[in-house]
Amino acid sequence: MKLSLIAPPVLALAVAAIFTGGNTTEGYDLIGHNLSLSQRDFRVNNNLTAAGANNNNTPHANFPDAQGFVMAMWKGAIEWGSLLHGDGGGDTTQNLGLGSGAANFDASFQGETTAIGNLGDNICSGLDGNSGGVLAFAEITGSGAWRMRFYQGWNWADGPGSIGFSQMDLQSVATHEYGHCLGLGHSGTGAATMAPTAANGQTGPRSIHADDIAGLQAIYGAASATKPTISGLSLSGSTLTITGTNFDATGNQVWFTRANNQGNGTPLKATNVPSTGGGTQIVVAVPNDVRTGGDVLVQKSGNAHSSLSNAYPADLSGSICSGPTNVCFSFPNSTGNIGQLSITGSQNVAANDTVLFGSQLPAGQFGIFLYGQGFTGTTISQGVFCLGGAPFYRLPIVQTDPFGFVNYALDLTNMPLGGDISQGETWNFQLWHRENGGNSNFSETLAYPFCN
Ligand SMILES: [Zn+2]
Repeated sequence: MKLSLIAPPVLALAVAAIFTGGNTTEGYDLIGHNLSLSQRDFRVNNNLTAAGANNNNTPHANFPDAQGFVMAMWKGAIEWGSLLHGDGGGDTTQNLGLGSGAANFDASFQGETTAIGNLGDNICSGLDGNSGGVLAFAEITGSGAWRMRFYQGWNWADGPGSIGFSQMDLQSVATHEYGHCLGLGHSGTGAATMAPTAANGQTGPRSIHADDIAGLQAIYGAASATKPTISGLSLSGSTLTITGTNFDATGNQVWFTRANNQGNGTPLKATNVPSTGGGTQIVVAVPNDVRTGGDVLVQKSGNAHSSLSNAYPADLSGSICSGPTNVCFSFPNSTGNIGQLSITGSQNVAANDTVLFGSQLPAGQFGIFLYGQGFTGTTISQGVFCLGGAPFYRLPIVQTDPFGFVNYALDLTNMPLGGDISQGETWNFQLWHRENGGNSNFSETLAYPFCN
């Protein structure tokens, strides 16, 4: 079986000497730095195009909205976490589950980026070549700023279960490299994840060894009895209920995963959040700009390693209120264009501020805004009626102006009989208008969720 060297981290001079001289013959080794709470983020630039590195398309509830390279990186980092990540599932090769560190250490997945970033941006990415026997490397400074790179030129596998005998396991290498990022050098214990070599077909290093855990705890301390813990999440609309222990009565921070390609890796945070039930429950509004799939963590007062909870997987797609989307086109009208719609407002029924705008329409023509929850298209006259398949409702007659614009402000407290709109519902809107020569046409159709 071919052995491939995993490169030691590239270190700033201050810690290089410690590393070079400090590698023990048996057991873990400490580089000399630790990751403060401001360096717990990690992001992934999903540019690893090597065959087998990005073909795991099997979703898992513990890694919502992630697959391939992204999921492998996420697993690699959270294996070092203090408690099982969710129920610990997602890797059939690990009997004990993912999240085995039992230390005052947890990392925060902060989504995907389009760039490899600079040292200190804490981004995992691919780079061309295979650099002799090197699979991947982590660049780290003495203050714990880091970046991780994976060479494209290997026969990678991204799991999720066992891999081919000639393949190199991405998740194992990610777990190893993240071990460097958090402060561990190479271990002299052959079965440790931090052993300096990796073998094809091997998935064992995905699961950190007692020696790795001992090293992690030497840096961060064994998980404190006062460390906050998250044991469950419950989402209702955009309100998240967090169940756990050791939350502060007031002033907690709740860390969310920021939407992809936003921010600089700093977690998206809700601040000054109180708890109830003796520190066992937090109710918090999910902030805008959250990633649909990510982790939630709670930081209580202070910046000690033990102030931050475990990372708990969160599928927050139900809290996302997207804007209007075009669900059905019509045919061009006599202007030569398809009639366009836009909808403005807060998407909140109680605010009652929804306004429909039509444009690219024939001038001075009468029309009626229609709305319903069907979206079956039928050609009528010169256009496509898109609200078939369900009841639809008519709003009062409007007329386009000389520029082909028209608008209508909905009164959500006084809608047509049977057509009441409630919060949490999505409705489709379309304009039916007269056309030159006695024909008629339709605008495009927008689906509009009332969800804020
Ligand atoms: Zn290494």
